[in-house]
Amino acid sequence: MSRIWIRGGRVLDPAISRDELADLLVEDGRISAVGVDLAPAGAERIDASGCWVVPGLVDLHAHLREPGQEYKEDIASGGRAAAAGGFTAVACMANTNPVNDDPSVTDFILDRARTDSPVRVYPVAAATQGLRGQVMTEMAALAAAGAVGFSDDGQTIMDAGVMRRVLEYSRLVGAPVIVHAEDRTLVGEGVMNEGPVSTRLGLPGNPCIAEAACVARDLMLAELAGAHLHVGHVSTAAAVELIRAARARGVHVTAEVTPHHLTLTDEACLGYDTNTKMAPPLRSAADVRACREGLADGTLDAVATDHAPHAVHEKEVDFAEAPNGILGLETAVPVVLELVRSGELSPLEWVRRCSTNPARILKRPGGRLAVGAPADVSVIDPERRWTYDPAKGFSKSRNSPWAGRELTGRAVVTIVDGRLVFHVDKGVLVP
Ligand SMILES: [Zn+2]
Repeated sequence: MSRIWIRGGRVLDPAISRDELADLLVEDGRISAVGVDLAPAGAERIDASGCWVVPGLVDLHAHLREPGQEYKEDIASGGRAAAAGGFTAVACMANTNPVNDDPSVTDFILDRARTDSPVRVYPVAAATQGLRGQVMTEMAALAAAGAVGFSDDGQTIMDAGVMRRVLEYSRLVGAPVIVHAEDRTLVGEGVMNEGPVSTRLGLPGNPCIAEAACVARDLMLAELAGAHLHVGHVSTAAAVELIRAARARGVHVTAEVTPHHLTLTDEACLGYDTNTKMAPPLRSAADVRACREGLADGTLDAVATDHAPHAVHEKEVDFAEAPNGILGLETAVPVVLELVRSGELSPLEWVRRCSTNPARILKRPGGRLAVGAPADVSVIDPERRWTYDPAKGFSKSRNSPWAGRELTGRAVVTIVDGRLVFHVDKGVLVP
């Protein structure tokens, strides 16, 4: 019998509002006990004093790039980056090559994850064929193959009639539609947030209304269809307010926000660093404040990384030409812990937004530390100081605005299904 004894940590389980110093025991893949004075024989012992012991973090939104763009990332490297970041499960977006719009691609991803990834991988399938926004995918067949949700992420379904049908079918399938909310006609040629900073830099702006108009439309369509709409990477005050109002009138909407939209403004673009270019773009300080308030009051349910690896040569071009996106899996914990240090989130509510709520949104197990449940557990040292160097990380790519920065807080141990997959002093251990 394999045993892991996590000793003396602050056990945080939002599912039952547990916040207390305790030991946690993992036996044969499952959580077998939470309590004080456990002294199991023959257990591998992990000292968690000063650390949080939490249900494994769940990322709703990552790009693992396999199949088709393995020079940026693959399921093995992305899975290792996730484990090193404290994640025990990652949902991966469908904009691979080929697109995950067919059960054979969903099968491939799941097969590859079983052999290559230390963490659980949940494929999100495309909502329309080829992400072209015209013809729906076979959603029932994709769900049967293991898709946990549907999204044309990276693209927006501009045809409202198609979006309506996608939402109606998703309701029959019982999975959320995850929307990348950017009205393309309003984005235009925009490459960063439209405002004083874009004017100063002489770069075309992508206005907040591009997101807000799309969110407003999709909330109304979801209300009509009675479907579960999940709004990806919310970046604007206007979208937060629209989601808050829709939730209040009973629309089934959930939403996520990224670490970068919680902590960086468009002023980060002042040096033309392409590692500050993403879609939606970094916004104003007022938008950042609204996103933080939305996360704190629960309007935004979850943190999601939008981990988007790109090769060095792709990002080493002019700002306007660079592809959108940055790495996120290995830095999410310290970056989002900023909201605990500032007093905006309690540790328990932080865990709820990084683990419990994402698991609930995807209707997957996890997000809690129940005795008898599969042991997906992370140990986080909220005070550990370290300097992030993407070259020493596990992703194949390097595109991070936090490269070279000293960060506070780090995942130190990750356990998936009872297996120790990451230890900060030993690296990724499995597979
Ligand atoms: Zn997106």
